[in-house]
Amino acid sequence: MRKPIVAGNWKLNGALADNESLVLGVLDGMPALEGIDVAVCPPFVYLPQVVRLAESTALDVGAQNCSEHENGAFTGEVAAPMLADVGARYVILGHSERRAMYGETDQIVSEKVKAALAAGLTPILCVGETLEEREADETEAVVRRQLAAVISGNGIQAFDRIVIAYEPVWAIGTGRTASPEQAQAVHAFIRGQLADHDAGIAQSVRIQYGGSMKPGNAADLLAQPDIDGGLIGGASLKAEDFLGICRAAA
Ligand code: PEP
Repeated sequence: MRKPIVAGNWKLNGALADNESLVLGVLDGMPALEGIDVAVCPPFVYLPQVVRLAESTALDVGAQNCSEHENGAFTGEVAAPMLADVGARYVILGHSERRAMYGETDQIVSEKVKAALAAGLTPILCVGETLEEREADETEAVVRRQLAAVISGNGIQAFDRIVIAYEPVWAIGTGRTASPEQAQAVHAFIRGQLADHDAGIAQSVRIQYGGSMKPGNAADLLAQPDIDGGLIGGASLKAEDFLGICRAAA
């Protein structure tokens, strides 16, 4: 049995006062959530605040990115050991916004996964196709390529410590969600790709769905056999919406 995991990707949103009421709101609903992992991923500068708010609770905290480098002359970057140092447990890597807007290649994502694992963090590795790629029937080829880079850079055993998020780019922030059947097909494909290397790891790895997941559509998506949780953007910014999704996963 895989333990579901729901993580909120706050993206470039937040302020001290807003974060506090959002986290306290989420914490209010946490006691009712049994048997799932829940995390929130604020912008870097708010990690210490959110770690402090979540201290001694079941709520975990993650970052949205990290450098592939450990330290040195990389102005503006934040290293994985720094994230661990301030109490982050997860780090989202390879998000489509970073791939598309900040030039993160499969190779860079793989190096970031390596850096995160070396720092003891759990990477949430995002994969997924654009609308053009889906329409060209390239979904499987794209996801295969994105996974292969991380497998060849880190070894299949690394997936023991990785969470995968399947995020069709056309569903992120668009209000357009993959149907449960569409998502399930790609989740099963991802598991199959890993099974080609190690059947045990393929069965145990947790694969989140991400892309306009909301309280109203979460239950149908999460009922699919290979969907083990959600990576939530917009709906993670309201405690009630985020908790609604968490309740559907619990
Ligand atoms: C995301 O950015 O990871 C995401 C899934 O966003 P949204 O839920 O807003 O589509």
